[in-house]
Amino acid sequence: DSADFDEEVNSICPFCGVGCQVSLKVKDGKIKYVEGINGPANEGRLCVKGRFGFDYIHHPHRLTKPLIRRDDAPAKGLNVDPGNWQTHFREASWDEALDFAAKGLKDIGGTGVAGFGSAKCTNEEAYLFQKLIRQGFGHNNVDHCTRLCHASSVAALMENVGSGAVTATFNEIENADVAIAIGCNPIENHPVAATYFKQFAKRGGKLIVMDPRGVGLRRFASHMLQFRPGTDVSMLNAIMHVIVEEELYDQQYIEAYTENWEAEKEHLADFSPEAMAPVCGIDAEVLRDVARTFAGAKAAMIFWGMGVSQHIHGTDNARCLISLALMTGQVGRPGAGLHPLRGQNNVQGASDAGLIPMFLPDYQSVMNDEVRAAFTEVWGSGDFSNQKGLTVTEIMDAVHAGKIRGMYILGENPAMSDPDVEHARDALAKLDHLVVQDIFITETANYADVILPASAFAEKTGTVTNTNRQVQMGRPAVPPPGEAREDWWIEVELAKRLGLGWDYTGPADVFAEMKQNMRSLNNITWERLENENAVTYPSLSPEDPGQPIVFADGFPRPDGRARFTPASIIAPDDVPDADFPMILTTGRQLEHWHTGSMTRRASVLDAVEPEANCSLHPSTLRKLGVAPGEHVRLTTKRGSIEIMAREDRAVAPDMVFLPFAYVEAAANILTNPAVDPYGKIPEFKFSAVRVEAA
Ligand code: SF4
Repeated sequence: DSADFDEEVNSICPFCGVGCQVSLKVKDGKIKYVEGINGPANEGRLCVKGRFGFDYIHHPHRLTKPLIRRDDAPAKGLNVDPGNWQTHFREASWDEALDFAAKGLKDIGGTGVAGFGSAKCTNEEAYLFQKLIRQGFGHNNVDHCTRLCHASSVAALMENVGSGAVTATFNEIENADVAIAIGCNPIENHPVAATYFKQFAKRGGKLIVMDPRGVGLRRFASHMLQFRPGTDVSMLNAIMHVIVEEELYDQQYIEAYTENWEAEKEHLADFSPEAMAPVCGIDAEVLRDVARTFAGAKAAMIFWGMGVSQHIHGTDNARCLISLALMTGQVGRPGAGLHPLRGQNNVQGASDAGLIPMFLPDYQSVMNDEVRAAFTEVWGSGDFSNQKGLTVTEIMDAVHAGKIRGMYILGENPAMSDPDVEHARDALAKLDHLVVQDIFITETANYADVILPASAFAEKTGTVTNTNRQVQMGRPAVPPPGEAREDWWIEVELAKRLGLGWDYTGPADVFAEMKQNMRSLNNITWERLENENAVTYPSLSPEDPGQPIVFADGFPRPDGRARFTPASIIAPDDVPDADFPMILTTGRQLEHWHTGSMTRRASVLDAVEPEANCSLHPSTLRKLGVAPGEHVRLTTKRGSIEIMAREDRAVAPDMVFLPFAYVEAAANILTNPAVDPYGKIPEFKFSAVRVEAA
């Protein structure tokens, strides 16, 4: 009913990487409700977060003025009440706050400063952030939450396929007859994408679900492989062993488009299903059946999530999935492809925009002199280091070592999201100068010297890129509260005070500059995005809406060939023992998003899921003498939390599933900071844990 609202504005959902297009209905200056519209990824659909998770925008905790830490503030710690921050901070003008922020960073200077940008900001804001660190401080110590998400997937894809993005949109499952979903839980984490998975299964598609937890998709699965945590490589190599043994591979495709096949074949000889069944816990006959089903597909897709990537062998896990697709020729055709389901709404775009320590925009190496020269020419000043920068967890270590003393953190929340989070919180407390730019006093902002009040998605203009490589236009529906400003404006004002001479007048200027050194944006203009709302990259002409499938005729690698990289079994870092006999795995749940800063302030979502909880098998609860709803104590080598226990038959008896959105029982107090050597991603999915009645 049009009387329900004064204005409606089309934008993009701020939560997951599906990138649903939304219509924001505004009345009396506030968003009243949200509807799905016909975007390429969602075709009008929304999940509970997109539909009901918006009123955090109008929450009384929103930052409305710049804040500077008081001289008489208590010692830095997780001790600020977001509703009563006056004990720690005082209000300041924008000029005072920006001068103070810039001076503190400048006084430290060079490699003493590092930056965390945000996968929740726009592409233009991500681009400006990495530019500010590189141009302003001369190095590449800039990263964002891709490090905690799909860094290992990207490492494997770059290595073996030559591109870090998906080879096919998730909607291509409509053209598949077989699909693997491994280490992902799309019904909760990518719910609109999951609707396509369900439709696929309902029309007879074979859905092979592989996960140590019995995730919701199992109800639609032709095969459910609930394998032992951390044994992905043994299971996937066994499946590929069968494909080799029974000669089910696509010889023609392998010869035309790949390299290193003989080495892969030889390597797989040691991984018979019979030998691997006791390792991964899946019967040899099931492994053989899955191999035959996948290899027999006319068109097959492979989807994966952080169950694959967040391991010290995350890159090896992804290498196996790539090899499986290559040996069966399941890339580059309708209904075929590799698709890591991206987490945050703009983690694809922020990575594309160069918000990572080893790559400039479009994954161009910082170690390449010509590439760096091309950027400094466009930027108009100074060179920056040809050395890869430090990653998220390395930056925290460098703070502890006294090498980094200043940080600029935009929209990230390492005081909740880092593994072994007390280590990260202690690092934040040690910093001489911490600039935080956010919409709330997040846990990380507790440690800030200056807080710059930023904008929520519905208050800003800018493009974001979803898991499907679809670049989409976000638009403002309401103004930022009080004196809060769009993030790009804050970055520009800070850069001016760092002496960088930036003179952008808006995100369109930034986008135009990005296009100068980003071939992925060829044929995609600001005007097109304003008119069409979404264009998929690569777009082959000004009229082309973009290519949903890539690599039909070779790969962006030497000789156009993708590579098989064999993977061996590596045990998880923190294996259970007598003191810590069970396995802890962390993740998200439907109603809450990541560190909970937005969804726990969204009234409907918080009402549905208000309390920190973990899930245990009924037999485990019985052994502990704990009833569902009572509390348990979880202890790892890093720390201990108490939390309400739920009964869940889908969790194996020796496992605990723990969401990471709750500060009062922060999962990352427990998690292991050991990282994958290639993607440098922490092993969030496996820690040895002791569970006791609280
Ligand atoms: Fe938003 Fe993702 Fe839900 Fe779509 S599926 S409405 S993008 S959270």
